[in-house]
Amino acid sequence: MKATVLEFHDIAPEVRHFVFEVPGVQQLHFKPGQFVSLNETLNGKKITRPYSIVSLPDGNRFELCLNLVHEGAFTPHLFAMQPGDSIEMSAPLGFFTVRDPAKDALFIATGTGIAPFRSMAPGYLSHPHAQRLTLLFGVRHQHTIYYRDDFDALARTHPNFRFWPVLSRADSSWAGRAGHVQSHLSEALAGRTDLDVYICGLKAMVDDVRGILKELGFDRKQIIFEKYD
Ligand SMILES: Cc1cc2nc3c(=O)[nH]c(=O)nc-3n(C[C@H](O)[C@H](O)[C@H](O)COP(=O)(O)OP(=O)(O)OC[C@H]3O[C@@H](n4cnc5c(N)ncnc54)[C@H](O)[C@@H]3O)c2cc1C
Repeated sequence: MKATVLEFHDIAPEVRHFVFEVPGVQQLHFKPGQFVSLNETLNGKKITRPYSIVSLPDGNRFELCLNLVHEGAFTPHLFAMQPGDSIEMSAPLGFFTVRDPAKDALFIATGTGIAPFRSMAPGYLSHPHAQRLTLLFGVRHQHTIYYRDDFDALARTHPNFRFWPVLSRADSSWAGRAGHVQSHLSEALAGRTDLDVYICGLKAMVDDVRGILKELGFDRKQIIFEKYD
């Protein structure tokens, strides 16, 4: 399968939101939370990288949220793509999907780790038995809380949804949560150990949060995670 870039826009420094379509396909089937693998031969070497889909199923379109890794083998190529350019891709895959919307859940993301949650949250909240959902989203600065409008809108229409951005480099104008997402776990859990916790981002954060949850008595099955590196 090939994916063609329809458009893109920068949503933070070095973070780009892409809209792709898959020509010749009517409906790209996927579960929110799944990823596609993009691949390209660069300097004679075939490189494949997975990317979480940041959008909901919508015909043959899908969207990605990509972080530019300057010294990376693949992302500089993706950031050089222009509307009309194509790249090979796999069918959507992955098990980082909502397990049980009838259980309270905590979503924890840092950086582009927010991507699967933007796709998962609306479905979770529109389930007839949806319970309370909290999203802790760690980024550096206030102007880099990407998709903020989308999550604020969800919170307005779903009183059982709490969107908690956490800034690691907050300036004095920020009155919200600051520091690392780890520091706000206990506030989000409020002493409970019976909910499902979904974690997505770089290994260091994911492992740290998993360690804290295990110490608190969470069972392995309640901790669902996707590591980006
Ligand atoms: C299931 C899955 C889903 C993913 N979804 C996304 C996504 O939606 N958006 C996205 O930007 N990336 C995502 N990634 C990471 C992506 O696959 C690549 O690893 C990333 O784009 C870097 O590729 P590269 O070849 O440019 O860098 P490489 O040459 O592979 O170098 C990677 C190095 O860059 C650092 N790094 C900085 N930011 C990132 C990052 N975001 N991801 C990985 N490594 C990073 C790592 O610590 C690592 O040392 C996902 C990874 C997995 C396993």
